[in-house]
Amino acid sequence: MSENLSIVRSRLNRPLTYAEKVLYSHLDDPHGQDIQRGKSYLKLRPDRVACQDATAQMAILQFMSANLPSVATPTTVHCDHLIEALEGGDQDLARAVDTNKEVYNFLSTSCAKYNIGFWKPGSGIIHQIVLENYAFPGGLMIGTDSHTPNAGGLGMCAVGVGGADAVDVMANLPWEVKAPKIIGVKLTGEMSGWTAPKDIILKVAGILTVKGGTGAIVEYHGPGVDSLSSTGMGTICNMGAEIGATTSMFPFNDRMYDYLAATKRKQIGDFARTYAAELREDKGAEYDELIEINLSELEPHINGPFTPDLATPISKFKDAVEANKWPEELKVGLIGSCTNSSYEDMSRAASIARDALDHGVKAKSMFTVTPGSEQIRATIERDGQLETLEQFGGMVLANACGPCIGQWDRRDVKKGEANSILSSYNRNFTGRNDANPATHSFVTSPDLVVALTLAGTLKFNPLTDTLKDKDGNDWKLSPPTGDGLPANGYDPGRDTYQAPPQDRASVNVLVSPESDRLQILEGFQKWDGQDATDLPLLIKCQGKTTTDHISMAGPWLKYRGHLDNISNNMLIGAINAANGEANKVKNQTTGEIGSVPGTARDYKKKGIRWAVIGDWNYGEGSSREHAALEPRHLGGLAIITRSFARIHETNLKKQGMLPLTFADPADYDKINPDDKVDIMCTELAVGEPVTLKVHPKEGSSWEAKLNHTFNEPQLEWFKDGSALNTMARHAAS
Ligand code: SF4
Repeated sequence: MSENLSIVRSRLNRPLTYAEKVLYSHLDDPHGQDIQRGKSYLKLRPDRVACQDATAQMAILQFMSANLPSVATPTTVHCDHLIEALEGGDQDLARAVDTNKEVYNFLSTSCAKYNIGFWKPGSGIIHQIVLENYAFPGGLMIGTDSHTPNAGGLGMCAVGVGGADAVDVMANLPWEVKAPKIIGVKLTGEMSGWTAPKDIILKVAGILTVKGGTGAIVEYHGPGVDSLSSTGMGTICNMGAEIGATTSMFPFNDRMYDYLAATKRKQIGDFARTYAAELREDKGAEYDELIEINLSELEPHINGPFTPDLATPISKFKDAVEANKWPEELKVGLIGSCTNSSYEDMSRAASIARDALDHGVKAKSMFTVTPGSEQIRATIERDGQLETLEQFGGMVLANACGPCIGQWDRRDVKKGEANSILSSYNRNFTGRNDANPATHSFVTSPDLVVALTLAGTLKFNPLTDTLKDKDGNDWKLSPPTGDGLPANGYDPGRDTYQAPPQDRASVNVLVSPESDRLQILEGFQKWDGQDATDLPLLIKCQGKTTTDHISMAGPWLKYRGHLDNISNNMLIGAINAANGEANKVKNQTTGEIGSVPGTARDYKKKGIRWAVIGDWNYGEGSSREHAALEPRHLGGLAIITRSFARIHETNLKKQGMLPLTFADPADYDKINPDDKVDIMCTELAVGEPVTLKVHPKEGSSWEAKLNHTFNEPQLEWFKDGSALNTMARHAAS
């Protein structure tokens, strides 16, 4: 870090923010890299990669197709997303192990084969495990999950990415990201009473809204930082994903040192202390935007429903419930998840539950507890918080995502029935938790979840209102209390980690050829060195074509490890300019109308490559590698658009596709859905346009110029068939 930083310092000659220090100290080329916040694209070398089980499947399958012996960067896989909550921890876990057997077997054997640490089902949620074991101040990591920024609670720059980025880093390619802008959040004062770290991010979400952090890192600083626990900082960074931030970070401080020491990493804490000056912002560092929050004045907040940026302080919440006619009765309170399941969170929650039990009362609403990791579960079991929460009425769920990601077989309300739930999670979009669009989902601190669960109503304010004890007497809850770290250390609980074995060569990766969820990927074919002639247009897309239109999510996610099966969703959401309809295109060889993937399959069977015409900003939306893999798999050669969303454009290049743009955007209008085209691939050269010859069904042929953004190494990807083929070729030579 120091070496790279001193190179960058001498070039930039200005004070740096902490986030900048971490990013620039991981530059692949600190001498030559262009560095302009919000403008340049940085090529970085992350220290770690983490994948959750849903996204790991395709990432590892792709990695395997490069034929490399092991990952180039330390990587872990975490089984947390596929466990459905129904009866409680042990039963739910056993059911999941059975249902997902083939996925778990594949992940376990492939991790063993390629030197990846494997955290078995039941071990806990990816971000909690990373914080407990892998995060460190000054580090840079990427993770195939949007809440990867949780590791910012230990001063790490941790960014959620798509599988394609993870594969690159696993295969030793640099990771590319647009140099983020930096939003500073200065914390002053000190929290007390019912206010919790969660309230900081709930407040920030209200200020910045769900889009306000896009393309930026949120960097917390100021004297208020030191009053927060490391896990509390993790909560804040975690939910920074809800404002679209690239990540969120806190500077290294004593609270992080304490957490490192408590999780058996004191030597990392000591090492960080010797570099402490570089693990925080420089004096005079400038932010692109600055927000100030006085923690002494910060009220507890509840955000929602349906969006995490609708922030209401508790003092105004009762009125908001009435004014908006949100269902008053609280049906379910849910605590835990990767966002809020620290020892401190659970201790504070248990202190409220204990207060209630001492007054002879329990939860009025249904109540669930999701420990973030086996270590947390075992520690709060040993120290009694778990028992208190169970006595209070809590059902303890598996150490996994569960209801947070919709893995919840909820049976207390019918689909379509309006109702309210309150959680200490991070996301509350419509239908996320229980697939019921009428569920009003709110997010808040675990403290308020427990207090309102006790009252059974959204209209309860524990700061001002009283409750009835078992004898009918009025009584007021005491503010929560709880230790940040366990006085007797953490109890690791059951051993749920599988380290890569010494002898990896003999490991067989288990994928059944009959599986409909997993499929070994074959490397894509090399370019034949010829111009492509007489290509049909599979579809001329009209208007917005996002990665969701190109590769839909929802039920299709089941097949994310099976490229051929998931390809049946290719472009089914895109609107065909020929008829204004989705998933209805004309097969140019038969004249029949069929589905987009079905037509592509027919061309592929006949050995015909095809192209797609797209409008502006084609491929915007979440970075989904399937959106680039599927057209390649079904025989596509080129996607020709007015413009691309940059990440999707890069993903297409990585899969050996040609993303091309009309030099004259008006040519988009001239081209007809039933035209045939020739693409002069042999003209491909850095900075040179490529000729497109258009042959309309009727009338004379015409030519257009197509631009591209391939650089030399990327042209190799096209020629080799994919970036992974290029990696494999280099590795073999
Ligand atoms: Fe994502 Fe929820 Fe799991 Fe956290 S607990 S990783 S937010 S699904």
